[in-house]
Amino acid sequence: MEAWKEQLHNHVNTIDRLKEYIHVTPEEEEAIGEMKTKWGTTPYFASLMDPEDPDCPIRKQVIPSLKERENTFGIPNYLIWKENRDTGEVRPDSIARQYDDRIAFTVTDVCANYCRHCFRKELVVDRDLKLRMDVDEGIDWIREHTEIRDVLITGGDPFILSDEKIEYVIRKLREIPHLEMIRFGTRAPIVLPQRITDGLKKILRPYHRIPIWINTQCNHANELTEETARAVYELLTCGVNVGNQAVLLKGINDDVESFRRLHQKLLTVRIRPYYVFYCEPAPGIDHFRTPVEKGAELIRDAIRGHTTGLAQPMYVIATNIGKIPLMPDYYIVDKNEKEYTLRNYKGKETKWPNMPE
Ligand code: SF4
Repeated sequence: MEAWKEQLHNHVNTIDRLKEYIHVTPEEEEAIGEMKTKWGTTPYFASLMDPEDPDCPIRKQVIPSLKERENTFGIPNYLIWKENRDTGEVRPDSIARQYDDRIAFTVTDVCANYCRHCFRKELVVDRDLKLRMDVDEGIDWIREHTEIRDVLITGGDPFILSDEKIEYVIRKLREIPHLEMIRFGTRAPIVLPQRITDGLKKILRPYHRIPIWINTQCNHANELTEETARAVYELLTCGVNVGNQAVLLKGINDDVESFRRLHQKLLTVRIRPYYVFYCEPAPGIDHFRTPVEKGAELIRDAIRGHTTGLAQPMYVIATNIGKIPLMPDYYIVDKNEKEYTLRNYKGKETKWPNMPE
């Protein structure tokens, strides 16, 4: 059996299996017993957890918490609202749309790691939202909609699919003349780097008019290992760039040191920081959410000016009407007809001429 399939076959999704990796606390044990949601991770990702520290940033993403019972700020039926599933346009369940020219194409609800903070948790973790994930129906819809240039293949985790299925989806999409790019959203390089096999590389590598891009999700520097570095390198040799979409998570990466280290270390494994998402108001994940301004403050205090521009993600809120970027609002202090007063990350100010139209 291939190593990645063994990882899934030996999924860590029972208390006994979890105890092979960490000292499970009574609270963790109670939450696992009580929460009737899907949970679990790969043996590889479990091995990165701190066995003694319940505050370990990887543990918190993997192990259910009793706090998931609380829901003060989450929006019920979040995914229906967020993905505009009850608006006028009739679309297959597999197609989520917030923009005119690009869509998200859901091909599976299975993941290698069931992230506790997942914004699609109603579909993937809680499983109270059922979607029909008919790949051919989705491809037919994309073919009929000539305004679509860009398809994000998502899930669940699309890299959970077999090589044959991934090859089929890519081949069919590449036959559509109006498509200009295919993107995959997958946590595989982080939670299942063994998935980047020779077989998968053979599917991704051939040169084609329509490029493939990958965005993964890494939320803490501890998730980055030699295995991830190797997997990303292998993807790059196939002409596939890997970007990162971190989620701002309270107690995991919402302090200056963790936030900076995450973004600096991503570049050391050739992953380009792309977005930091505000943790979305899906139900039952209040405990992961910070004030909205927090991400912009962290960009200012941890990254801007403190490390290379290559490590600068854009901080956004992903809403039902698309992503809204949130920039730190301190850069322009004042403005008059003649000049701007600008402030840098250290609080120093300078003047800049104001150019009339
Ligand atoms: S891998 Fe993605 S879809 Fe799956 S649980 Fe994690 S965040 Fe959600």
